[in-house]
Amino acid sequence: MEDSLLLARLAAIVGPAQVLTGAGDMAPALSDWRGRYRGAARCVVRPGTAAEVAAVVRACSEAGVPIVPQGGNTGLCGGATPGASGDAVVLSLARLNRIRAVDPANNTITVEAGCTLAAVQEAAAAAGRLFPLSLASEGSCQVGGNLSTNAGGVQVLRYGNARVLTLGLEVVLPSGELWDGLRGLRKDNTGYDLKQLFIGAEGTLGIITAAVLKLFPQPRATATAWLAIATPAASLAVLARLQGAFGELLSACELVSRVALDLVIRHLPGSVAPLAIDSEWQLLVELSGGGEQQRLEEALAGCLAEAIAAGEVVDAVLAQSGDQARKLWALRENISEAQKIEGFSIKHDISLPISRIPDFIARTDAALADAFPGIRCVTFGHVGDGNLHYNQSMADPADNARLLATQVAVDRLVHDMVVDFGGSISAEHGIGQLKRDELVRYRSPVELATMRALKQALDPRGLMNPGKLL
Ligand code: FAD
Ligand code: ZN
Repeated sequence: MEDSLLLARLAAIVGPAQVLTGAGDMAPALSDWRGRYRGAARCVVRPGTAAEVAAVVRACSEAGVPIVPQGGNTGLCGGATPGASGDAVVLSLARLNRIRAVDPANNTITVEAGCTLAAVQEAAAAAGRLFPLSLASEGSCQVGGNLSTNAGGVQVLRYGNARVLTLGLEVVLPSGELWDGLRGLRKDNTGYDLKQLFIGAEGTLGIITAAVLKLFPQPRATATAWLAIATPAASLAVLARLQGAFGELLSACELVSRVALDLVIRHLPGSVAPLAIDSEWQLLVELSGGGEQQRLEEALAGCLAEAIAAGEVVDAVLAQSGDQARKLWALRENISEAQKIEGFSIKHDISLPISRIPDFIARTDAALADAFPGIRCVTFGHVGDGNLHYNQSMADPADNARLLATQVAVDRLVHDMVVDFGGSISAEHGIGQLKRDELVRYRSPVELATMRALKQALDPRGLMNPGKLL
C-alpha cells in the first residue's frame, strides 16, 4: 500500500490530529530514554480506544506494515524504538489512559494500558488501597509498558513483579482481533493462561490495551532505614535477619555501592550522605504493615541494634519522618538519572541466586579490573530479589568512548559469569534490541524454538515489533 494511502486510512480511524508525521512531532518517539537508540518511522499514531487500536492494527496488517507499540518510552533496552529503515508505524498508547473501574472489595483495579504507573497508584490510593508496583520512572512509564516488560522495581520482595500483580488483560492480537480477558479472578484454571504470554513479550505478540491489576490494603505504618555495611555478604545477613524478624513486613531491601551513592551526591543538587561513616556498601530497608507507626519503628530500631552488635551493620539511621524517608529513597532512585548525567555506561540488569551475590560481585569485579584497566563498577539493586544493576563505565569519563568500543567483550565477561553463577542476563528490563543476541547465546535451542513457535503462531508475518526480543 502506498504510504499516503495507509496514512489516510489511519487518519480516518483516529482522526488526522492523532497521526504525527512531522520530524519534530515524531522525534521524542524515535529515540529511547538513554539516547542509545535512534530509529525512523512512517508516523506515530495515537489511537484513543481499544477499538481504534484494533482498527489500526488491521490497517497495518493489511498493508504489511510493522508496528512498534510504545508506552512511556522509559524502557532501558531499546524495545520501544523503531528500527532505522523507517518502514514501521509507532503506535502510542498514551491516549488510552482511563481508569475503567475500581473494585475495593475484590481488591482490583481495571486500567487502560496508557495510564501512567503513578496514575494507577493514585487511583488505588483514592480508593483506600495500594497498588504496589513502584519504579523510579513511575511518573512517565505506562501500565502497558510495565506489563510488556514484566517490570520489577523496589517492592517485588513483598508484592511480586508486574506478572504477579496482573489478573486479567485485554489485548489486540496481530490479526487485529480484540481479546477480552479482563477477568478479576484469583483462581481460573480454564486452559492455557493466555495473559502470561503477553506479559514480558515486549510488544512482539500483540498490544495490551487494558489490564485488571491486584490491589492491597494500604500499610498504615512504614519504617525506613539507611544502613552502612562493610560487604555485600553483610547485606545477606541483614536480609535474613530482617526476614526472620518481620517476615513479609519487609517490603524493600536495596543495595547501594559507595560508587553509586557518590554519583547521586555529585549530580543531584541537595543530596547528602545519610551517615557520616564512609562505607563501601549501604542498604536501604523498609518495613510496612498494619500496626502502629511507633511500634514498627521501635521494632526496626531494636533489630538494627542487634545487627550492629552482631557486626553485620556498621551504622544505621532510621527515617524520623515521611520527608526523611523520601530523601533516603531519592538517593536510591536517582542512581540511574545520575549515571545518565555522567554519560555513557554499559548496563547489566542481572538476576542471581541471592546466596551467590557476594561471590559474583567479588569475582566479576576482579575479572573486569583485570581485563579492562580503569573500569568502574556502579553496583546497586534489589538485593532482596537477587537482582543487581551492575553497570560499567570508566572512572574517568573521558575514557568512556574506549570502553564503549569493548562493550561486546564486557558483556561477554559479565554474562558468562552470570550464567556460571546460575543467573539470568535480564531480571526486569527485558531484552529489546540491547540483549537480542545475548538471548540467542544463553537460552537453549529448545527454549528458543518454543519461543519462535509461539511467535509464529500469533504473528506469522512478524509485524509486531520486529527486531526486538527474538
Ligand atoms: P516503553 O519503554 O514504552 O516500552 C517498553 C516495551 O514494551 C517495548 O518493547 C514496547 O514496544 C512495549 N510496549 C509498551 N507498551 C505496550 C503495550 N501497551 N502493549 C504491548 N507492548 C507494549 N524497570 C524496572 O523493571 N524496574 C525499575 O526499578 C526501573 N527503574 C527505572 C528507572 C528509570 C529512571 C528509568 C528511566 C527506567 C526504569 N525502568 C525500570 C525501566 C522502565 O521504566 C520499565 O521497563 C517500564 O516498565 C517501561 O514502561 P514504558 O511504558 O516506558 O514502556
Ligand atoms: Zn531495578
